[in-house]
Amino acid sequence: MSKRIAFAKNFPVKQMSEDIGQAARIGANSGVLICQLTTLTPLSIRSVFKNTPNPAWIPGSSLRGMVRNMAEVLGAGCGRLTDGATAVCTAERTCVVCRVFGYVEKEEGTASKVKFRDSDRIPVKYDRIDVPFERPAPEGVAGWILFPHDDDAKTYDGKEPFVIEETKFRFRVDYLNLDAEEYAIFRFALELKYGAVDLCHKLGFAKAAGFGSCVVRVLGDKARPVWPEIERFLKGASWDTIAKARSYRK
Ligand SMILES: [Zn+2]
Repeated sequence: MSKRIAFAKNFPVKQMSEDIGQAARIGANSGVLICQLTTLTPLSIRSVFKNTPNPAWIPGSSLRGMVRNMAEVLGAGCGRLTDGATAVCTAERTCVVCRVFGYVEKEEGTASKVKFRDSDRIPVKYDRIDVPFERPAPEGVAGWILFPHDDDAKTYDGKEPFVIEETKFRFRVDYLNLDAEEYAIFRFALELKYGAVDLCHKLGFAKAAGFGSCVVRVLGDKARPVWPEIERFLKGASWDTIAKARSYRK
């Protein structure tokens, strides 16, 4: 079960000669976010959970990939990590997603401005589930694959270790010198909350089977909120599809 979100054609780019860069830390544009991820449906981070460690954790690279993917799906990026993307960034002219999350290609690139730490290690309860093998059906359009939230996902006795009960992992993200648009997109892609909008992420193994739904919240009230620069991304046909697929409140 999945949907396709067409690659963005008019994603915002910036002349890098105008970028703040990373040579110095500008306090007003930099900070730390302490986040909490709450599972909604069974979760498996296969690279970690296959050995059923207890306590368990979520790798920073998995969290980072989850957030970057949402920033791309929202239409803020050039889609360089996928086949079929129409344009990619250069050292002179770079999209928001490549500026925030970084990229390397041949001799050139830009370093990431955000750093995701591994989550804290917490005691978990594993259950083994048989996951039906299901690949997303290819469709006509080139685009991102979007896995909808599905809290009626069927579970079976089986072999794959999942954390089934609602579980809360905390993690930390450092960000450096993000301009207003970068911060708005990064911050929204992290929490998926703005005004009345409140959506869930999908993380880990067997997303197409309904697993891996989770909600991220930034803890504490000192963090800057999402800025209105995000609003241009919260409209249009793709947005309606995303909002419907990732709505989790009954
Ligand atoms: Zn790019």
